[in-house]
Amino acid sequence: MSLNSSALVLFSGGQDSTACLAWALQRYPRVETIGFDYGQRHRVELDCRQVVRRELAAAFPQWAARLGDDHVLDLGLLGQISDTALTDQRAIEMQANGLPNTFVPGRNLLFLAFAAALAYRRGASVLVGGMCETDYSGYPDCRDNTIKAMQLALSLGLAGPMTIETPLMWLDKAQTWALSESLGGSALTALVIEHTHTCYLGERGQRHAWGHGCGECPACRLRAAGFEAWQRSR
Ligand code: ZN
Repeated sequence: MSLNSSALVLFSGGQDSTACLAWALQRYPRVETIGFDYGQRHRVELDCRQVVRRELAAAFPQWAARLGDDHVLDLGLLGQISDTALTDQRAIEMQANGLPNTFVPGRNLLFLAFAAALAYRRGASVLVGGMCETDYSGYPDCRDNTIKAMQLALSLGLAGPMTIETPLMWLDKAQTWALSESLGGSALTALVIEHTHTCYLGERGQRHAWGHGCGECPACRLRAAGFEAWQRSR
């Protein structure tokens, strides 16, 4: 198998990275997943990862044949350099600099560096991530120029091509729902609704048309608004 035939997907168990995983499974003959355990306030998203992988494999046999190993890296050390609403019991709010206080500085750069090191060891030369510049919360390490610069740094530092694919970069949330539907039809949309997790507060209990979550936090509101916009546009 050539290097170019394997991809490693940064997979959190959320809606965006599930769309990325489906996108990769349609393109690459071998796809592995990586997740990061960094002491998130809630564990539910990590728990969703295995459910989503299992359900994807069950519903899409052609993808099951391509879906390889899952890797979870312990990045608990991030707790030593962050003081945010994701790892503390603080409320989520916007800071004076316009970034939500859930922001862990440079978090995606760290994730990409660890993912690239693992991909290299696994013989994969493509990373796939859900970074998005369109309607996300203004994280500067998710912007296209940042990712392009990181791709260059990783390729130089590893002395070989390390491509970073970001299929969601220019999509809004409604278009992300549309992408899932185009990749896996209503079966994939149903899977995303039922099994992926987005809520910042880690709530699963309530089941809305767009899935589970508190319905009030910024992540739930973004997901709900995207779903409704997508429904209206169909
Ligand atoms: Zn929520």
